Amino acid sequence: MVFADVIVDISVKSLDRPFQYIVPEELVSDAVIGAMVVIPFGNGNRELKGYIIGLSQQPKYDIAKTKKIKEIVKQGVVAESHLLSLAYWIKENYGSTMNDAIKAVLPVKREIKKVVSRTVYPCLMRTEMEMVMQEYAAKHYKAKVRILQAMLDQEDFEKGIDYSVMQKKYKVTASALRGMEEQGIIRIDKTRQYRDPIHIDSRDEQIPVLNEQQQHIVDTIGKEYQDGERKTYLIHGVTGSGKTEVYMRIIQQVIAQGKQVIVLIPEIALTFQTVSRFYRRFGKRVSVMHSRLSQGEKFDQFERAKSGEIDIMIGPRSALFTPFERLGLIVIDEEHETSYQSEMPPKYHAREVAVHRASMTGASVILGSATPSMESYYRAQMGRYQLFTMTHRATGAVLPKVWVTDLREEMAKKNRSIFGTKLTELVEDRLKKREQIILFLNRRGYAGSVSCRKCGEVMKCPHCSVSLTAHMHYGRLRELVCHYCGYETMMPEVCPKCGSKYIGTFGIGTQKVEQFVKERFQQASVLRMDADTTTGKEGHERILQSFASGEADILIGTQMIVKGHDFPNVTLVGILAADLSLNVGDYRSAERTYQLLAQAAGRAGRGKKPGDVVLQTYQPDHYSIEAAADQDYQEFYEQELVQRQILHYPPVSNILGVLVLSERMEHAVQLAQKVVQQMKKYDQAVILGPAPASLSKAKDIYRYMIYAKCQDYRVLRQMKNALEHYMDLQEEYRDCRLQFDFNL
Ligand code: ADP
Ligand code: ZN
Ligand code: ZN
Repeated sequence: MVFADVIVDISVKSLDRPFQYIVPEELVSDAVIGAMVVIPFGNGNRELKGYIIGLSQQPKYDIAKTKKIKEIVKQGVVAESHLLSLAYWIKENYGSTMNDAIKAVLPVKREIKKVVSRTVYPCLMRTEMEMVMQEYAAKHYKAKVRILQAMLDQEDFEKGIDYSVMQKKYKVTASALRGMEEQGIIRIDKTRQYRDPIHIDSRDEQIPVLNEQQQHIVDTIGKEYQDGERKTYLIHGVTGSGKTEVYMRIIQQVIAQGKQVIVLIPEIALTFQTVSRFYRRFGKRVSVMHSRLSQGEKFDQFERAKSGEIDIMIGPRSALFTPFERLGLIVIDEEHETSYQSEMPPKYHAREVAVHRASMTGASVILGSATPSMESYYRAQMGRYQLFTMTHRATGAVLPKVWVTDLREEMAKKNRSIFGTKLTELVEDRLKKREQIILFLNRRGYAGSVSCRKCGEVMKCPHCSVSLTAHMHYGRLRELVCHYCGYETMMPEVCPKCGSKYIGTFGIGTQKVEQFVKERFQQASVLRMDADTTTGKEGHERILQSFASGEADILIGTQMIVKGHDFPNVTLVGILAADLSLNVGDYRSAERTYQLLAQAAGRAGRGKKPGDVVLQTYQPDHYSIEAAADQDYQEFYEQELVQRQILHYPPVSNILGVLVLSERMEHAVQLAQKVVQQMKKYDQAVILGPAPASLSKAKDIYRYMIYAKCQDYRVLRQMKNALEHYMDLQEEYRDCRLQFDFNL
């Protein structure tokens, strides 16, 4: 007998648990995971729709009381059922609960809001409001007193009052409300359903004539698509080679055939500039997702997709789950970006999930990057993806000239500043010519930590095993912050261990660079962009816009500045310490370093004037730095592949990470030992560990890591399944959890 776990409709509550039903014999062949079914539900046996999320031969309850599935709905492609079977695939391949997987693929259902609703919120605290009200009362402003009284009478003061209620029930005029809003006492917020996140006029668009390389790609993919061939393509094109233009032309052809398209962009590159290009080309048939949309707004965008109101969805990783019913193409721009990998279980990789979703629904996938991931390039070499290469910038701009500065030699020349001779010379030159400069600080793997020069004590977060980061106020060290959990403390006066007063930061942060630049180049106006200056709602965009409009000479920043934007007047990019990310004890560190350097260099000389890049480093002869200086991806790829082969790392082999988590250290250690014993049963795999994870404690939870390397992915997946089953039986380790990641 076959039993199906069915999720009833898709609302928050029923996501909590599946219900088991019997699959009648005549329906067994149609009962697949993701299938839509009609079931009798509840006491009245109301007929409801649901989805099969699991199949088994094990009854969970008394069979006599278990109901039967009434019908399997065969209505062609249903977005939700596809997404549910995708969730199942994600659970199987990456290890997570079905619930977490479903949450990743389906947005939480919300009450649909009214078309337009306005709400009046207080802007002051309760006590201040009371004072204002007394003033008004003294002046006999009766309507205004009614407004304030109504707000103060509410149990939840912050909740606000509906605008129309305000007008009708409390009989106040729009002008009274507006007056109070202007005084900053209240705030009137509008919420509109199906808000279009961006409004752009599409009239003034100039569509370029494709160059030969672009045309070749568009023709080839276009023809194959027309012929019904579905594949994964990789477009390796240097920065500014016109990849986005290529995507748009192909998208045009795909939607002309009645299909829908998902375009993934890393959140960081999701700027107004990028999105507006799509809006200009495709108008109202486009929608955007990004992290600044509210849950309700996100849900609305998904509803528009489901109803077929739009054809193109642009967004970060989560947009991959847009419920299109006629999905024809998935584009992943900057496919090498780490943000495509989920950090929370299920730890899926959007690229792999995209390829799988495409294969389920008969869609093609286009991956694009100036610095492809090792995985994708390797697959292209193996013939699994079809490779296209674009070698020139589309605007005819030449690639910048790269200068390498060996910081050890600068030191020998007694130059102890963070600027080498070449960079100083070129900065002065550009300031004179009134051209713009980007200074890039590679902060990945760099902590900006505070330590004691006498005893070497490093200031660490008491809840996590990471060092605290120093923050400056008015050029002085003020507080220490844990970037992991948010813990904050004042900078101590003396070393907490030995009492020495020689404590401070060693190494450079963006703030220090800013300070230095302001002292050294006093005539320059400077903007800084990093996690601290971009916390506001549109802070990120604001800084980039103001730099693009020429409001500053120099932009200082971290990885945030290296992608997305086009600054035609930037003719110099300085990379201050290129090798900071090289020694972070991660097998991908050389790859990350190469990508960052190549992308940063790609910011220079994108306009009519040629550009220069100065790459400062302590390791000028490391292959990732040499290849970046030569702007030669192939050179990097070949060297790196050798490393991966020697050490059996992806993409040549596969690696499963098992993270053991517990609040109790002894438990974590014991369980990790037991888990290793289980893993060692698979003799095709090499097991490493357990060892404390590189983040060995986070938010007071201890973390131990075990790795298994194996050529065959299926063995690792079996291992993961066996460990999940094993954990179900470990009664005394209920406080522990396992988390899995594949090829992270
Ligand atoms: P990428 O996505 O590879 O970085 P883009 O598509 O953003 O490249 O193109 C870079 C710049 O070149 C953009 O300003 C774009 O409008 C322009 N461009 C693209 N294709 C052409 C072309 N065929 N002729 C002239 N300009 C082009
Ligand atoms: Zn000390
Ligand atoms: Zn912390």
